[in-house]
Amino acid sequence: MSETTTFTGEPFDRGSFESLLKRRLFFTEAFEIYRTSGNLHGDSRGLFDYGPPGSALQNNIVDAWRRHFVLEEDMLEVDCTILTPEEVFKTSGHVDKFEDWMCKDSKTGDFLRADHLIENVLEARLKGDKAARGVTNNAEEEDAKVDAKKQKTKVKDIKAVRLSDGEVQEYEEILAKIDNYDGAELGELVERLEIRNPDGDNKVLPPTPFNLMFKTTLGPNSASPGYLRPETAQGQFLNFKKLLEYNQNAMPFASASVGKSFRNEISPRSGLLRVREFLMAEIEHFVDPEGGKKHHGFNEIKDLRLNFLDRDTQLSGKTSVQNISIEEAVRKKLVDNETLGYFLGRIYLFLLRIGVDNSKLRFRQHMANEMAHYAADCWDAELLTSYGWIECVGCADRSAYDLTVHSKKTGEPLIVREPRPEPLRIEEWQIDINKAKFGPTFRKDAKAVESALLALGQAEREELLTVLQQNSHITIDVPGVPDGKVDVSRELVKFEKRTVLQNVREYTPNVIEPSFGIGRIFYSLLEHVYWHRPGDVARGVLSLPLLVAPSKVLIVPLSSLPAFVPIIRKISQNLRRLGISCRVDDSGASIGKRYARNDELGIPLGITIDFDTVKDDSITLRERDSTKQVRASIDEIIASIKSLVDNAETWDDVFERLPEFISQGGEDE
Ligand code: AMP
Repeated sequence: MSETTTFTGEPFDRGSFESLLKRRLFFTEAFEIYRTSGNLHGDSRGLFDYGPPGSALQNNIVDAWRRHFVLEEDMLEVDCTILTPEEVFKTSGHVDKFEDWMCKDSKTGDFLRADHLIENVLEARLKGDKAARGVTNNAEEEDAKVDAKKQKTKVKDIKAVRLSDGEVQEYEEILAKIDNYDGAELGELVERLEIRNPDGDNKVLPPTPFNLMFKTTLGPNSASPGYLRPETAQGQFLNFKKLLEYNQNAMPFASASVGKSFRNEISPRSGLLRVREFLMAEIEHFVDPEGGKKHHGFNEIKDLRLNFLDRDTQLSGKTSVQNISIEEAVRKKLVDNETLGYFLGRIYLFLLRIGVDNSKLRFRQHMANEMAHYAADCWDAELLTSYGWIECVGCADRSAYDLTVHSKKTGEPLIVREPRPEPLRIEEWQIDINKAKFGPTFRKDAKAVESALLALGQAEREELLTVLQQNSHITIDVPGVPDGKVDVSRELVKFEKRTVLQNVREYTPNVIEPSFGIGRIFYSLLEHVYWHRPGDVARGVLSLPLLVAPSKVLIVPLSSLPAFVPIIRKISQNLRRLGISCRVDDSGASIGKRYARNDELGIPLGITIDFDTVKDDSITLRERDSTKQVRASIDEIIASIKSLVDNAETWDDVFERLPEFISQGGEDE
């Protein structure tokens, strides 16, 4: 979108930016030589490989994430399997509900994601309207075409067609709440607004649901269906009981996991932003639902001011944000509870720490239809890119849903038991089992039937008593028995309300889930830190912070003088021993060119070895963004680099402490 600019205020040029990333091997399309040689016939889109700087940057983002969350918050990291039997995703609801709506092109048979189709067509119409009103300029129209092409909608020409004021307002309102429509509503919009496939202008059929999970089978027997996981969360939920024990039964606590997830996106697009295989980093924070979901760290983040885009604003067709403190947002109940607010604050700090531009970050609340029915509240951290606002982190309060459904299905209590300070006197429905008859009736299933009975909640017990009073038996779900159901006759069970003293409190924890898509953060961050030096549009600079830069130091010898070789080796060995990655550029290009080339890789620091180094052991240290240099002994420079990497000093501190070096020939000598 044309309004995106670099942080120096220049218009953002996606073409040069993406060509830089591909040329310098940050990432590349997977199976490219098969594609270019015409040997790929099916749909293999949405799959990418990361090259050396891309892998290093991705690893550094994940390292920073581990440090910021797992280490600083003392979380329990797990690494669970990707292949998952069908039963698990049936229980979690993914088999039935993990789907997007798609429309089929009536002639070509191509599938298009319904919400994206509507979004693209309406955006193109609005741009056409601007063109017709003369609001736009050629550059904007060109941009619109490029956008549309990139998004595979192939809008051939942005037609300058005037819309009525009512239409403009309606389209803008639809776009503001596009994520809130269900299948029927999307179908109604397609029909009423005469939405056609921009690629060929054919009619599209009404939307149908498509499950995004990749199905497979486990083992040679096709009777064991399974799926590649679409999120890491379920593995964490299934290990809840063991993790709670590992945590010495202390609540609250969080598990965390980093790993690949898979979604069979209908129309992968926008490079790394919508892919079919991606790295996720997810946290499941288990919290007591009673007492307002307070968080002990809330005070540390409460004063942070975030850009909040709430659901009411979106439903009124607007996208304006309010910049308020997290404390105010929680107090006003804009954000449901302290724990959710705490994680929004931590997500915000993490994103800034790795170099995200604060002015291109907002927190958008999910509208009712967007959220799962069980979710109490959900916010996405969105980053502004040339593709628009992109959801990079989701942060949902999933209530007790996941633990409850898995517990119900397996009969395994996924609950917390806490001693009460004072015993509680309560009236409750109790179940008496006639042991003498129960065993002989159910034989090997007796244990499972008993567990299923005892797992019944109070409301269910009361209901079943009514059934039992009218019938000779009740039917209950029993996991693991044939048909999963068992009839229990009247003489085997008795339900009675009694007063009991409860010394232990039992509850199912609620889950707050921050879920990070590393690929989206990776791409958006790179857009945020990309810029050109004035007068040098041919080469970009990636101002990645030291923390995540793929390589920290560039070593540049002035020439190929043999005397430089042992010095290069010494410097690079010393840096590597300190765990600081470095790269040597001893090509014949000028120093300026070599620095410019490595600015493209985002390397923050550069060391030059020149003829004085051989005489007095001194080297220069250059900072990428300011291009300022200092000169000191090898040991002093390496110590300074270490303190910069450790965040003990800033470049300004080092620049003030060490003598400035002004190169006589400038950068291009
Ligand atoms: P969700 O579970 O849909 O809220 O997704 C969690 C996070 O995963 C999102 O915030 C994205 O960052 C990331 N994500 C989801 N789908 C994709 C995709 N197709 N490609 C890349 N990242 C994705």
